[in-house]
Amino acid sequence: MAVDSTYTCAPRAWTGCSPVTVLLFVTISPTVTLLPPIRPHRLPRGLTRWLSHRLHATAVLLSGAAHAVLIYAIFSLLHATPAVHVGSSAADIALFEPPQLPALLVIPQIEPTPAPTGLPLEAALIDEATTVPDAPQISAPLAGAKHAKVAPSPISKAPPVESSAPPAATDLPIGGGFEGRKTNARAQLVAEQGGSPQSEAAVERGLVWLVNHQYPDGGWRFNHHTAACDKRCRNAGTHESTTAATALALLPLLGAGHTPREGAHQAAVGRGLAYLHSRMIRTPHGGDLQEGTMYGQGLATIALCEAFALTGDPQLNAAAQESLDFIAWSQHLGGGWRYFPGQPGDMTVLGWQWMALKSGQMAGLSVPERTLLRAADFLDRVEAEGGASYGYQGPDNPALTPTAIGLLCRMYSGWRRTNPRLIRGVDLLADAGPSYDDMYFNYYATQVLHHAEAPGWDAWNERLRNHLIATQSSRDHEDGSWYFTDYHTAPGGRLCDTALALMILEVYYRHLPLYGYKSVEF
Ligand SMILES: [Zn+2]
Repeated sequence: MAVDSTYTCAPRAWTGCSPVTVLLFVTISPTVTLLPPIRPHRLPRGLTRWLSHRLHATAVLLSGAAHAVLIYAIFSLLHATPAVHVGSSAADIALFEPPQLPALLVIPQIEPTPAPTGLPLEAALIDEATTVPDAPQISAPLAGAKHAKVAPSPISKAPPVESSAPPAATDLPIGGGFEGRKTNARAQLVAEQGGSPQSEAAVERGLVWLVNHQYPDGGWRFNHHTAACDKRCRNAGTHESTTAATALALLPLLGAGHTPREGAHQAAVGRGLAYLHSRMIRTPHGGDLQEGTMYGQGLATIALCEAFALTGDPQLNAAAQESLDFIAWSQHLGGGWRYFPGQPGDMTVLGWQWMALKSGQMAGLSVPERTLLRAADFLDRVEAEGGASYGYQGPDNPALTPTAIGLLCRMYSGWRRTNPRLIRGVDLLADAGPSYDDMYFNYYATQVLHHAEAPGWDAWNERLRNHLIATQSSRDHEDGSWYFTDYHTAPGGRLCDTALALMILEVYYRHLPLYGYKSVEF
């Protein structure tokens, strides 16, 4: 949208003013405009000049005010309109309109719950002593997916490996870093946090499947039918964003400590990161990696930030920072993100952007504090039960997946482990149990229960871990992959389910326990 550059007002002539200015002048200043025509030959020359100056000055003043109002209105309109990233066209947007998205996205509709009792939340650390009024419990299950009920059980972590005793747990979220991916740390954390040799073997097989389905250009596609695959693997996805697919494939590889410099898959990871870098559209607002929607942007930014944190590579530094800048620019004034930059937010898109920003912070990159504060404002607006549960775009229909996303964001934003709202929310997830087929929900909820060291964690972990081990394919070229018939991830196909299942099985070390380890030394 362009502003009419001819819209100017000459200070000395009514004819140079815009109609709006004249109208405003006439409306506001009738005493001036209704003055009888000045007849210079009847008035003294000095008075004529004074009147003339007065009229001109008033006109200029009011014209300026009118233009200020107009400029403000134009800027408001521009900001309220979803921005289109540089390089896009109307055809691009139509091609990737929301119904085509991988359902990393579709949230099942549920019965409304009673009106929430919202509490003002602080964006930074929340006082653990804060009390929450009793609120009606959400009747589980909130989502339509099948969930495995797990009985709450007391925390019973495996005894720490003797090489180094873990630091004492804390109520403050000081952990969450990437150091657990190093080989020695990974083995110890698997033993301590609930993994098993079988889960680690499943991770290795799954990573091999991913690497075997990398395209020759270094990227991945949700349609995973490479030449080597020759369509032997079923359930190809349909979503077309190659940045989202590539990032989803890279994340579990990075999660297991494979970088361009380390690990058995370093060549694949290096080519994948180079592909992501090559797909970046540089704009005045940062690096655009959407290829369709902000899902691609969030996922790709997480991958770049993690890769930089693990390697310190200067090229990754610049790319990750540019991607973060684009996320900050794309935020809606209400604090959220959605399919396109500037749209009012929803929880699923926000979840990826939030974790990208946090990954950026953990990597030492620059993230505007204002962006995080606004995002926390969005969480405040969609929370129910004082922050124990969350809706998709508002508080009226809290559901399990946005609740899991919201709670994880709250934990990373500084909520203490003993915060009663967090405890209540974690209980809601634990009571629902892991889903048999909704890996999108499981991905977030598993992180929440793990970090919270919730009473239901052991039962949740054992059920889901064993379910994933049992359902990993061993069929021909599909060996090592997963596919679940769930509409949340259907457009992402086998690649998406495999990536999410892998990251669930990496939960023991992909991020250090948020409330237990500030860092590790092995
Ligand atoms: Zn295949």
